[in-house]
Amino acid sequence: MPADTSTQRDTFSTRSVHAGEETDPRTGSVVTPIYQTSTFAFPSTRILLEIMRGKRKGNVYTRWWNPTNQTAERKIADLESGESALLFSSGMAAISSMILSFVSSGDHVVSMRHVYGATYEFMSEFLPRIDVDVTFVDANAVEEFSQSIRANTRLVYLETPTNPTLKVVDLRAVKRLLRKHKAKIAVDNTFATPYNQLPLRLGADIVVHSATKYLSGHADITAGVVVSTRRLVSKVYETRKLLGGVLDPHAAWLLIRGLKTFELRMQRHNENGLKVAKFLSKHPKVREVFYPGLSSHPQYHVAERQMHGFGGMLSFLPRGDGQFASRVIDRLKLIKLAPSLGGVETLASQPWTLSHFYVPKKERLKAGIFDELIRLSIGVEDASDIIADLKQALEA
Ligand code: PLP
Repeated sequence: MPADTSTQRDTFSTRSVHAGEETDPRTGSVVTPIYQTSTFAFPSTRILLEIMRGKRKGNVYTRWWNPTNQTAERKIADLESGESALLFSSGMAAISSMILSFVSSGDHVVSMRHVYGATYEFMSEFLPRIDVDVTFVDANAVEEFSQSIRANTRLVYLETPTNPTLKVVDLRAVKRLLRKHKAKIAVDNTFATPYNQLPLRLGADIVVHSATKYLSGHADITAGVVVSTRRLVSKVYETRKLLGGVLDPHAAWLLIRGLKTFELRMQRHNENGLKVAKFLSKHPKVREVFYPGLSSHPQYHVAERQMHGFGGMLSFLPRGDGQFASRVIDRLKLIKLAPSLGGVETLASQPWTLSHFYVPKKERLKAGIFDELIRLSIGVEDASDIIADLKQALEA
């Protein structure tokens, strides 16, 4: 692995456990309590007003903030090298609220074409309804990002590696090309996670996540997060307060618990991802494997420079059509056919049947999402068991 300071490996596991935590002053509880409450009481109007005026620390109402959620927010801000973070009820709540914080009617957005299906729908259908123009550019033609910029461009939106075709965008190159422009650069870091990639250190202004995935890590909550400077996060806070996509405190607590084993999980996802990718790339029934850790990947050298590890996500094209791919998936025994990713269980899907079901076929094919494409979210099981299951399903 390359030694790149931008990936800030030092003390990652210690910070995953301890960052943002405060020992409960009343009970001494080591674990942050779940403040499962919508509202907080005050001893007097004077104290309430001091809190409302920002002169005293205190809690008021969970749609505004909640102490369990704030612990998770401090931890994630630390792990992403950001100043501040805000939790949301899902990744899409985080992405849509973030975008709506920086664009208004008459503005322009540049987005990669190869983004998560619902993000693409938000860009291509929702934003035009409020008179925001979006230009879609190719993930692998970074010069298109600067060529598409207009005077009214407020946001440049990227995902790397991309879902589901694992294209890698050179974030430093994008920053270099856009250095003279005021548009904010936002990166969806869901696939890589802060363990493997730190976009804020590579030139991004804002990071978004579906925390439903690797951050929580156990496929048991939906959550989202926005990370940036205090100034930009305070803008997103105003939007969250109004649109109301806050995370439930119990889900925030599960997120904190998941984050404490973040490095352990990610090391295993990275190891298993590479082993499965190597197995598939040599299998006669497999035409092509998309995994940034394979030297055959077109942006392997970019991935090596900007990522600490290559993650647990990969996709591949079997030698056969969409129906053959469905048969392979249906024959899997250990690996489950399911949407989502980033949990401890290995999951498989054909993106056209799930994450990209609502994306028009023409657009989907343009983005390389063919019917036979199979996406795998490699879990933390023994790699030999994952490989044995894939082998029997391909060879049956
Ligand atoms: N971004 C990426 C890369 C995703 O894969 C997903 C969901 O799969 C999302 C965003 C949306 O997250 P959520 O489902 O938590 O709203």
